[in-house]
Amino acid sequence: MPKIPFFSHHPDVEIDPVCKMEVSVADPPGGKHRHEGTTYFFCGNGCRINFAENPAKYLDPNFEGEAM
Ligand SMILES: [Zn+2]
Repeated sequence: MPKIPFFSHHPDVEIDPVCKMEVSVADPPGGKHRHEGTTYFFCGNGCRINFAENPAKYLDPNFEGEAM
């Protein structure tokens, strides 16, 4: 499928806040986690667990992603 310009990412994916990978909203491999009214989606259980332990770290705008 060709990439559509002017869209930062496909509407059916969200960015995993831990590793910054695109994750399918319909079937996130690492499940979801709800934090302060926002649902986050994860590429794997490790990312979800890390996020759940310290959401503030990953939501910091200066945080640029973490190697798995
Ligand atoms: Zn991840």
